[in-house]
Amino acid sequence: MKRNVLIIGGGPAGIEASRKIRDFGHTPILIEKESHLGGHLAKWHKLFPDGESTEELLNSLTSDMDGIKWFTDTDIVSINKLKHLYVAICSNGISIQADALLFTTGFSLFPAEKKEEYGYGIYNHVITNADLEDFFNTGEDPRIKDPKVIGFVHCVGSRDEKAGNRQCSKVCCATAIKQACEMKELYPDATVYCFYMDLRMFGRKYEDLYLNAQRKYGILFVRGRVSEVSENIEGRLVVKAEDTLIGKPIRVTMDLLVLMAGMSPNDENREIASMTGVHLGEDGFFMPRDMLFRTTESHSKGIFFAGAATGPKTIPETLNEARAAAMAIDHYFKQEV
Ligand SMILES: Cc1cc2nc3c(=O)[nH]c(=O)nc-3n(C[C@H](O)[C@H](O)[C@H](O)COP(=O)(O)OP(=O)(O)OC[C@H]3O[C@@H](n4cnc5c(N)ncnc54)[C@H](O)[C@@H]3O)c2cc1C
Ligand code: SF4
Repeated sequence: MKRNVLIIGGGPAGIEASRKIRDFGHTPILIEKESHLGGHLAKWHKLFPDGESTEELLNSLTSDMDGIKWFTDTDIVSINKLKHLYVAICSNGISIQADALLFTTGFSLFPAEKKEEYGYGIYNHVITNADLEDFFNTGEDPRIKDPKVIGFVHCVGSRDEKAGNRQCSKVCCATAIKQACEMKELYPDATVYCFYMDLRMFGRKYEDLYLNAQRKYGILFVRGRVSEVSENIEGRLVVKAEDTLIGKPIRVTMDLLVLMAGMSPNDENREIASMTGVHLGEDGFFMPRDMLFRTTESHSKGIFFAGAATGPKTIPETLNEARAAAMAIDHYFKQEV
């Protein structure tokens, strides 16, 4: 029997899950609160480890949306359960009845201004990883002016108890190194530093990206946290760090500092949890029913998750989980018959 599935969040997870749910013969209704589909993917330029174009990936994801009802500029106002049916009232006034819900609401970028010591929002030449992706896409950012010395700071708002997040954000080591190489392509004479705690290059071909960064681009890796950023009289940044491998404090004058802001849970997760009874982890991301066999199921019957809504994930992991969630939903309907 054909069932309605409401998918909340039109990033890579929501789009891919909608397509698969349709392929299983059900009716996907996808809502996205922004004015366009694509989620964070739409903001990035090229992907690690191989530099695939995000535009091409997004075009191929959205090229086959037949049979999917989708709405942009649409958020959830309330969700109620009437027997086996979920009724969602949306911000544009529409009401949607669904036999199952899939949350693909993704993540938020850690607000870098919270780490005051790095000076984001205070010093002109301190930017975030997301700002740099935007620069790669548009070629415009008044804060980036032919930089001669560039620094990347890893783990901004991740692995940091003081920032309220103990967890690793998983994608930012690879993003930092990918971005450092892209900057060397644009500014071959620049000296580029990466300040890291330890490098988490876990994926296939990620190690090659790292070796290439050292051998081809001459990127300098400094093991240690940046402790303070200030500005000198010429408006250049003065970055203090401890090099824990040589056991000495260092100070470098730079023209651009890029903060690798981590993947944080959305603030709205708490409200969604109280509306639907799904569980949140200590970290604020949604908690699946179990972490081995039911990673796309919630603790509430008929409610599922996919993608970064349950924690930091890469795009291939996100897309795989979207397909797994579609299968789990189809299986749920078959059991319900
Ligand atoms: C700087 C940076 C660079 C990255 N680069 C790479 C890379 O090169 N390769 C890679 O594999 N991964 C990369 N990633 C990770 C990648 O961005 C994620 O894997 C991917 O975006 C997760 O997709 P998602 O659909 O789960 O979430 P998102 O992309 O966050 O999409 C979620 C969508 O849901 C919408 N939404 C949220 N709440 C609601 C609501 N209540 N109602 C309606 N809509 C809602 C949001 O507006 C958004 O469009 C990077 C991450 C960062 C931070
Ligand atoms: S992926 Fe790297 S930069 Fe990101 S939190 Fe983990 S260790 Fe830090």
